[in-house]
Amino acid sequence: MSVLEESRLQYSAVEVRMTDGTGWGLFTSHAVRKGDMLLQELPLVVLDIKYDATPATQQKFQKTIQWASRWTAQGGPMNEYPKEFRKLMDDCVCECVQEIFNSQSGDVQRKWMALHDAKTPNDTVITASKLFYLNGLNSEKGRLLNGLECIILSTAPMSNGRWAARLTYDGKDLSVKKDSLKKKIPGNVASTNSFSVGGYDGVGQKLGLYEVLSRSNHSCEPGTSRSIDANGLAVLRAERAFSQGEQVYTRYIAGSLPYEARQSELRDKYGFDCGCQKCEAERRV
Ligand SMILES: [Zn+2]
Repeated sequence: MSVLEESRLQYSAVEVRMTDGTGWGLFTSHAVRKGDMLLQELPLVVLDIKYDATPATQQKFQKTIQWASRWTAQGGPMNEYPKEFRKLMDDCVCECVQEIFNSQSGDVQRKWMALHDAKTPNDTVITASKLFYLNGLNSEKGRLLNGLECIILSTAPMSNGRWAARLTYDGKDLSVKKDSLKKKIPGNVASTNSFSVGGYDGVGQKLGLYEVLSRSNHSCEPGTSRSIDANGLAVLRAERAFSQGEQVYTRYIAGSLPYEARQSELRDKYGFDCGCQKCEAERRV
């Protein structure tokens, strides 16, 4: 690890570990008291997104602005934009991010793409017409995928260390077409893992991507607070005591949203149904 990399992580009481079923996560490396710092980290990269960078991005951004004005004019709540708007906005960010990605060093690009892409359907239900990327798939036979035993007929290496596969299940050939495969792309990785640095300023916004913080999983009531200053320096603090080895969560979306709005936003943007304690309690009501 270079001096530069080490210096991004200024303080850490957490470590990145594989969770049981939800990919990577952060876990306390020792007991932490209420109010203590859990993590202090500089971003891998700050994405300085300018929506007027190119005519194409400008046009997309104008569309999102018009959408938002119509929504609020019709009395739609400001913090509950429907998924059509969120998709448009994501699309816009994606387009701007590609250029920023291209200008990064190989090292940053590799670390960027190592983060999770919630839009890549690597764990979708298998259907005959569905295409998927499978992380680390090899040619061994009889592998379980979503609980279904599949026979892998052939595999082909794709970008970013992922593989496309031809599978059979239940006697049916589920061969998939390579050209309609959805790729893991920098914009989707950025949209899955970034945190706002400063907010929208009229022409753009800054988003921070973090090697450690971006690995944290979501809870609607995480018991942690996150702050990010104008340079992107992120601080995660404990709002309660944590014992050693406990998973440390952060919040991806506004905790003040009602249950259904939270579920919908998390499903659309991050691809999961939230089963945190707050959601479990509210679901039962
Ligand atoms: Zn939740």
